[in-house]
Amino acid sequence: MSGIYYCYQCKLITNSIDDLLFVEEKSKKSFCCEKCIQDFYQHLIGHFENLEFIKRKELNLENENLDDNLDNPELVEEFFKNPDQSLKYTNEIGEEITTIIKKIDSNNETINMLVNCFTYSGEISLILHSLCTKSNELISLFSFQSKKFNENEAGHFPEENLNEVEVDQKMIDEIELKKSTYLAELMEERKETDIPIESFHLYENFFSPTLYEPDEIYSYIDQSGDEILSYIRAHEQEGKSFYYLILCLKGDEKNKVEQLIYPIVSFPTVDGKLAHNYRKGEMISGSLKN
Ligand SMILES: [Zn+2]
Repeated sequence: MSGIYYCYQCKLITNSIDDLLFVEEKSKKSFCCEKCIQDFYQHLIGHFENLEFIKRKELNLENENLDDNLDNPELVEEFFKNPDQSLKYTNEIGEEITTIIKKIDSNNETINMLVNCFTYSGEISLILHSLCTKSNELISLFSFQSKKFNENEAGHFPEENLNEVEVDQKMIDEIELKKSTYLAELMEERKETDIPIESFHLYENFFSPTLYEPDEIYSYIDQSGDEILSYIRAHEQEGKSFYYLILCLKGDEKNKVEQLIYPIVSFPTVDGKLAHNYRKGEMISGSLKN
């Protein structure tokens, strides 16, 4: 096989695809060696660590120290062999992250073990982040990713998780209803001079940065009594500043590990006033800029 391929990190060019390593299931990013893989994804690894650090601080769990369990080969083997949940999150440009969760016994206590990783050809190709905690709330921070189940893989889930896929269907109907309500509201509030709806797809690559690293997050209860999270971030493209907003519905499965967050509407806007409409309720992250 001959052609031109290159390493996404060091840019080394090679003629053979066999010389390259692939990490992400739905992505063509290729690498020449393990070190380049580590270097390329370091920002994402750091991002997950940072998310955990901030949430632990908020929950007063900085000194939980349960991560020793991750060095126990028997526990780790059992974790990957029989996970309670294996959840896939696909973003709007098709990139996929898998979150694996299992309740394990540690010194006669039940705790959660969680791994965020990439898979390639159905195998785990890179572990981005792992943790052990007693806190379901800390787990739920990462299981927002489970909002999308890959349908053709549902059959691989352990029996009890099939029910969760059904519950998800109910939730999906609810989300659809929510989407139309919020879209209608947005259409009413939008100015004609704002970014045209036909161009929204050109802004899709701002979805992930906004969700993962928003400037601000607000939480409020809407007219139907549902908790809505509003993620806001200012961006710039070709010298033009704009906001990207994501409104998410927070699942109400309070006592379950998988308290989910479902994106309902996401859109760019150059209208500061429109963006400000979604700064309401309680600010749960960020500082007011300007
Ligand atoms: Zn390389």
